[in-house]
Amino acid sequence: MKYVLVSGGVISGIGKGVIASSTGLLLKTIGLKVTSIKIDPYMNVDAGTMAPTEHGEVFVLNDGGEVDLDLGNYERYLNITLTRENNITTGKIYQHVIERERRGDYLGKTVQVVPHLTDAIQDWIERVARIPVDETNSEPDVCIIELGGTVGDIESAPFVEALRQLKRRAGKNNFLQIHVSLVPVINGEQKTKPTQAAIKDVRSAGLAPDLIACRCQQPLTKSTIKKIALFCDVLDQQVLAVHDVNSTYHVPLLLDNQGLIGLLSETLQLDKLEVLPALLEKGQQTWTHWKQLTLAQDRLFDQVSIALVGKYTDLHDSYLSVIKSLEHSAMRCGRKLNLIWVEAEALETQMSTQDPAKYHKAWHDVCTANGVLVPGGFGVRGTEGMIAAAKWARTNNTPYLGICLGMQIAVIEYARNVCGMEGAHSVEISAHTDHPVIIFMPEGSKTHLGGTMRLGIRPTIWQPGSEWSKLRQLYGNSDEILERHRHRYEVNPEYIEKLSGLNFVGKDDKGERMEIVELKDHPFYVGVQYHPEYLSRVLQPSKPFLGFVAASCGVLDEILEKPDALVVNGVSVP
Ligand code: GLN
Repeated sequence: MKYVLVSGGVISGIGKGVIASSTGLLLKTIGLKVTSIKIDPYMNVDAGTMAPTEHGEVFVLNDGGEVDLDLGNYERYLNITLTRENNITTGKIYQHVIERERRGDYLGKTVQVVPHLTDAIQDWIERVARIPVDETNSEPDVCIIELGGTVGDIESAPFVEALRQLKRRAGKNNFLQIHVSLVPVINGEQKTKPTQAAIKDVRSAGLAPDLIACRCQQPLTKSTIKKIALFCDVLDQQVLAVHDVNSTYHVPLLLDNQGLIGLLSETLQLDKLEVLPALLEKGQQTWTHWKQLTLAQDRLFDQVSIALVGKYTDLHDSYLSVIKSLEHSAMRCGRKLNLIWVEAEALETQMSTQDPAKYHKAWHDVCTANGVLVPGGFGVRGTEGMIAAAKWARTNNTPYLGICLGMQIAVIEYARNVCGMEGAHSVEISAHTDHPVIIFMPEGSKTHLGGTMRLGIRPTIWQPGSEWSKLRQLYGNSDEILERHRHRYEVNPEYIEKLSGLNFVGKDDKGERMEIVELKDHPFYVGVQYHPEYLSRVLQPSKPFLGFVAASCGVLDEILEKPDALVVNGVSVP
């Protein structure tokens, strides 16, 4: 197993995840099998209990693991399927060691951070790195390990030590480290001191980065590169310049231009690995398409404007996968995505007196958008605003996509305004409503909220007579689809008959749970109980998003003819 450690210095949040996944993508283009592990040094056992406003969205995996959003980047860039074990947190690793201690596994020894915790971290990495993640179903060649935060943080110290030891365990030519640093520009000058300090820190922890990836607003000047190389005691080519680019899709191109594959190959002796010709061909094809699509994006002029009506709009990372899915679809439709953030609460009637300017601005945004999207969410705040936005979309023939909560919102709106069920609601929001159209339908316990979320991949079966469904056609008219879930509440089966005109075209395999609603006489009005954004890929946009964006651009008919085609700048790529 070859390991590529991506660590950070100076500050976090400067794109370590994108650099790590771009590195993985480049390794895949030469036919290698690549997996990844994300280490989050926080105490939470997983990301499931954290508000999206903390670290951004909670990403959900096939196995139901609720993990850090960086795993989403890896799945999207590398087109792989990870497990909950690919995300290690301090909470998870301590829990593991403490469980072993309680079992008596340590045979009376004093259990310590070094060696017991650090050994457990290394064992975990070695075990999980070997889990197959792609269609080959075989052991990966390379594992990208991304260490969250920055080296020097108190909480990441045991991980840094474990990684230092892992480098020894892995042996020569099997471990490479990329340290991501920041080069700020002060009064027009690129400053290298923070990077020098960061390298000093990481070396004092016993690690020696092979490559220093410098984030900077502008391309690094030659003299900056030389200065960093000199003071950090590396060769000029070991300094990678990662300046701000038009989109994150450009980062792999930027790294490739600086010869990253050659640098990795040299240290890790990648040429000695056996590469399957079919994988090499596939990797090269992916790379060609990636480059075509990314460069074509720079030449797009026509826009599609999408209003995202949500609750966590202050932190855009709260909806990262949703945004990525919209981007994938906009690229496929040959449009630039103009994403308009609308705080759902601003659409509510009380806002018209509290802050009229905000209210009117929000409504202007919704009314002028080409499409309206209501994403997932929890709790009451903003739900009346979302219901109002769904009504606008339904009655004005504006394409609508409701995801999870957004589907429940569409059902509530229809019940109230079409079926005359005044006060219809979800019991999550209004426990004693006269018309509980959305109810608690756990797969397990009916009395306890804890651990009752419906999580992970589940089948949806297309219902008889749903052949007209635009979404079904987009999915290729199969009988069944698989998508990831994260919810607790469901459409109340007792109301299905009463909600006539609202078509429940997809249900779960027992026919009890409503998975997809769609209106017939509307350009595109779809609600899905699942989260399609978790499975969208750059070169294979998620179908509900694709249909929604295509309808918003007015090109749905064209897309329906060839939903799986890859099109770059209007030209079909074979
Ligand atoms: N709060 C809703 C539920 O639990 C929707 C969840 C979501 O949108 N992820 O069912």
